[in-house]
Amino acid sequence: MKPTNPIFTGLPTTIFEVMSRLAVETGAINLGQGFPDVDGPEVIRRAAADALMAGPNQYPSMMGIEDLRQAVAETNKRFYGLDVDWRSEVMVTSGATEAIADAIIGLVAPGDEVVLIEPLYDCYLPIVRQAGGIPKLVRITPPHWTLDPDALAAAFSDRTKAILINTPMNPAGKVFTRDELQLIADLCIKHDAYVIADEVYEHLVYDGRTHVSPMQLPGMRDRVVRIGSAGKTFSLTAWKIGYITAAPHLLAPIAKVHQFVTFTTPPDLQKGVAAGLRLGDDYFRDFATGLAAKRDRLSAGLADLGFEVLKSEGTYFVTTDTGPLGIADDKEACLKMTREAGVAAVPVSAFYASNPPSTYIRFCFCKKDEVLDTALERLRTWLRRAA
Ligand code: PMP
Ligand code: GLN
Repeated sequence: MKPTNPIFTGLPTTIFEVMSRLAVETGAINLGQGFPDVDGPEVIRRAAADALMAGPNQYPSMMGIEDLRQAVAETNKRFYGLDVDWRSEVMVTSGATEAIADAIIGLVAPGDEVVLIEPLYDCYLPIVRQAGGIPKLVRITPPHWTLDPDALAAAFSDRTKAILINTPMNPAGKVFTRDELQLIADLCIKHDAYVIADEVYEHLVYDGRTHVSPMQLPGMRDRVVRIGSAGKTFSLTAWKIGYITAAPHLLAPIAKVHQFVTFTTPPDLQKGVAAGLRLGDDYFRDFATGLAAKRDRLSAGLADLGFEVLKSEGTYFVTTDTGPLGIADDKEACLKMTREAGVAAVPVSAFYASNPPSTYIRFCFCKKDEVLDTALERLRTWLRRAA
């Protein structure tokens, strides 16, 4: 029989699914895949439940319900000072994952170059390839995750259609600074390129840092496709509600992709998310403060066990070396730790296309304190036994 699409046929199952499945099979505490173990605010879930019962449960506008599109425009103003026209510049998608695919397919034509920064979130590279894009990879690596301006500049050319960036960045926990984003912006302006900005962790930023959207930088307002996710912002990862903010000339082709991929997204969940985006500043502040405390709890515990814990400025994640595990290969270390210690994590090498750093693993800290403590206790017992 004829071969199926080689871009997808040869791919392994995503590491998040692999580690979560193994955690379930082995009864391990899952600090692998990024999801909280407490659902987000009741007012959001109540608004969605009420909308579901009141109906209608029929196709909403393909662009998303007006209430949510307006709420997205309002938060762009509230957090970033951006004036956004909700009618022509906001679209709701089924998760940021769909938004990323729509944006890549909507902007990238076969033969266009696309700059990507490793570590890469799992879907980026396959979708760029499927669009016929030519990936130009720039890498940042642990422990410092420093962006080399020369390597970045070398990845750009006049054939560059777009750069895809993720800030705050999974799994690095890196929040790109205004200066780093300015470098990217300067290159985009020089080479007439767009930015697809995966900002799903925009509200998960710690220690008084501020998230800067590349859309805020001078000359970038109409070059950036800004992507957010209710899953992350409201601890409702299964809802898969994403939203795109982009100038009309960029959103239009992206909407043409969306109309043939999912077309619409459940309206009751959209209602709930609209209520969420209208929560007071205290919700967003307390959310970040609470997560930072969890990051500190897990980081301190891991350091106490002998791991070199890297700084996490944002996201759900903290990266460590494989140190006390005594296994250099990160995949093997994660498998063994899940099976023997009963704690799952994710190997950082899974985020690189080739020649990955292989001695770092990612832990997810958005879990109840007692779960983090039990995970640390399990690791302590296991390491003691192995010693
Ligand atoms: N981008 C990054 C960097 C992520 O970590 C995630 C989390 N799953 C997504 C996109 C996808 O978000 P969503 O669940 O809204 O599709
Ligand atoms: N973003 C999550 C992570 O990095 C996983 C989401 C997914 O499995 N698609 O762990």
